[in-house]
Amino acid sequence: MGSEWRPLLEALIGELEYRRALGLRFVALSAQGLAVLEGLTHPTVLGSAGGRGGKVSAMAVSSSGPAAKPPASEALGAQSGGKLKGSDVVPTGQVTGGVGVLPGLFGEARRLGLDREARLAAFEELRRRVLQCTRCPHLVASRKNVVFGVGTPEAELVFVGEAPGVEEDEQGEPFVGPAGQLLTKIIQAMGFSRDQVYIANILKCRPDTPGQTSGNRKPTPTEMATCFPYLREQLQLIQPKVIVALGATAVEGLLGKVGVGITRLRGQWQEWEGIPVMPTYHPAYLLRNQSPTEKRKVWEDMLKVLERLGRPITERQRNYFTRSGGDRA
Ligand code: SF4
Repeated sequence: MGSEWRPLLEALIGELEYRRALGLRFVALSAQGLAVLEGLTHPTVLGSAGGRGGKVSAMAVSSSGPAAKPPASEALGAQSGGKLKGSDVVPTGQVTGGVGVLPGLFGEARRLGLDREARLAAFEELRRRVLQCTRCPHLVASRKNVVFGVGTPEAELVFVGEAPGVEEDEQGEPFVGPAGQLLTKIIQAMGFSRDQVYIANILKCRPDTPGQTSGNRKPTPTEMATCFPYLREQLQLIQPKVIVALGATAVEGLLGKVGVGITRLRGQWQEWEGIPVMPTYHPAYLLRNQSPTEKRKVWEDMLKVLERLGRPITERQRNYFTRSGGDRA
């Protein structure tokens, strides 16, 4: 294996170990996925799987065609110092509509220079995979839609929320209910449209509420840990300049800060995998508490975000929710 492939292979092993830490024992892989793994351990085979000029390409990965069945699982076990068993990686041949390449690989590939076309293809492949996800049978049984996310995968700004509510579950899109409409106003007040940013949740399926006909509940830690790898992949592929974490659950899911109140954290820069994160109140909180003071706090957080993005800020924007600037969002 040439040294240029080592970071990808190490990222792959890291992803497998992360998944095992979550309690997952098996990873579904298509024949093409196995061929890519073989390419990482034996680069000449990557060429036969569609690699071009030694550069990882999601399009090549997506291409159908004959693929060798390499001893990738054994190779991985050996490369990870024996921490992973070969039986942890199994070809299922049951992956449909997706490629079956291990999550995280594309994100790492992007950092290593995955081109735009390949990155967008990888994002689409991820979307297809998430829409088919059945990891949480109780949520699968109650959901109407999987809510993957909305916006552009090339966004410089990503908003992360908690989980779909009833409207989001109905429409398959995050932040479309009353809180979502307020978020849209905030985004517009910042000078963006919804399709110029990206909006996603920690959990992609609506938390079920057995015995209740309405209302939402907070996702459990297990549900968040099970679904979080998808958001992780989304963010790794998008590589935004700034992430806004909306509310305590988003902060908990993204940053692992459990029991630290959002009141304490909001407005203070945090970091996720080298990307600045601004925690702020969830728009649902602002719907419950309409005081201009609370709105101003969120707006001040958004001004910090705009500054971090290097976006111009007008005097009018600076004064929203102050006595001189009046109400805006
Ligand atoms: S919540 Fe996430 S992990 Fe669970 S079934 Fe839905 S998409 Fe899959």
